[in-house]
Amino acid sequence: MNTHLIDEQNLTDSKNWVDRSLAAVWHPCTQMKHHESLPLIAITRGEGAWLYDDKGNAFLDCISSWWTNLFGHANPRINQAISKQLEKIEHVMLAGFTHAPVVELSEKLGALTQGHLGHVFYASDGASAVEIALKMSHHYWQLQGKPQKKKFVCLENSYHGETLGALAVTDVALFREAYGPLLQSVFIAPSPDSRKAKDGKSAKEIAIECADALETIFVKEHQNIAAFIIEPLVQCAGQMAMHSPEYLRRVRALCDQYEIHLIADEIAVGCGRTGKFFACEHAGIWPDFLTLSKGISGGYLPLSLSMTTEKIYRAFYRDQTAQGFLHSHSYTGNPLACAAALAALAIFESDQVLEKNIERAQDLAHAFKWAKEDTRLEHWRQQGMILAFDIKPSVLKNPSSFAREMFSASLLEGILIRPIGNTIYVMPPYILTASQTQNMAQAVQRALNRVLK
Ligand SMILES: *Cc1c(COP(=O)(O)O)cnc(C)c1O
Repeated sequence: MNTHLIDEQNLTDSKNWVDRSLAAVWHPCTQMKHHESLPLIAITRGEGAWLYDDKGNAFLDCISSWWTNLFGHANPRINQAISKQLEKIEHVMLAGFTHAPVVELSEKLGALTQGHLGHVFYASDGASAVEIALKMSHHYWQLQGKPQKKKFVCLENSYHGETLGALAVTDVALFREAYGPLLQSVFIAPSPDSRKAKDGKSAKEIAIECADALETIFVKEHQNIAAFIIEPLVQCAGQMAMHSPEYLRRVRALCDQYEIHLIADEIAVGCGRTGKFFACEHAGIWPDFLTLSKGISGGYLPLSLSMTTEKIYRAFYRDQTAQGFLHSHSYTGNPLACAAALAALAIFESDQVLEKNIERAQDLAHAFKWAKEDTRLEHWRQQGMILAFDIKPSVLKNPSSFAREMFSASLLEGILIRPIGNTIYVMPPYILTASQTQNMAQAVQRALNRVLK
């Protein structure tokens, strides 16, 4: 009798998850009033690439839950690694203490850069890793007797996170506008966005022109500039704008020439998204700082980090406390998150993920062939496991609400996609079969037809 009552109670609770969430949870990156018409979905479980809601609907997670998930939800190997770590130690401060997962993870990541970036500083969210790189860069120059090097350069259309320091190097008007007065001023260099390639110009020529424009800033201001920050190859939040690796090669040379640090923000593009483990590898360069988050824990737990070189590490290695890097976050190097990351790296190795993703990327291109031929669309582009295209502005009836309409339409088709402006993209976990990829692409097409009907 009693158990029956409890079950009923649970059922009513679960029926109300959405209402209760709207009353008590302030959701990220959302105008809450839009939820008067926009659905809010209560997810109760996940398995592989699928998310399940409280009504029993299933959604294929085509964007890896905001670019975090690599090997599916409830992945047995990552689950097990976290459980095993849980039996040993869940968390301990990383100042004055260390533990096996953080040591092994740092060694493995350093090895993946062939030792170029062998010192790893940890945080929890991506924005914090960006702040660490910015602060370390300026502090390094101070220690070199060049305290005037305190300005940063970022790209037009860049995104590096939402905290004040990271937002200062973010060039997305919608995210910045309200907070402009709180942000330090930065130099913004033109984006080598390959969509600018027209009238017979190639993406490589655009890259060269944009590198020249960056040099103009460097020539004039290099004494005041600490670092240039870039999302290598794909400006993800900036509508998946892609560029030629030639830009990165030129930028590396310019940064060396003008004594400016290069910060590669690989929070979104790292961990194999672009086809190599690090996007910088496509250009054969290493930055002075490389930030990772999102996929590094397999999409399980908040973990971020900023890797740097022996040279920069050595500059802080002194007797005075204040000349060390005194930054910290409470959960820095959390053992559970590091254990999840180690499990994710183990999957990369044992399952030859990067090799198999070459084929998966081909499946993706093949499945979305329809979008290349659809005259309503333009700028079809792909970099490894990221595929995107834009709706021509002329066919959009409601440009400001298209992304939300498309999101809602995609849910009706059993997929989760979240367009950015007029850009539709997919960035799936590395576990889809060729036929799942095909189904995903057809569902995107049906959702688009619903919206553009
Ligand atoms: C998501 C993202 C960030 C911010 O990471 P959070 O964990 O959301 O703070 C920074 N840089 C890039 C390139 C990102 O995509």
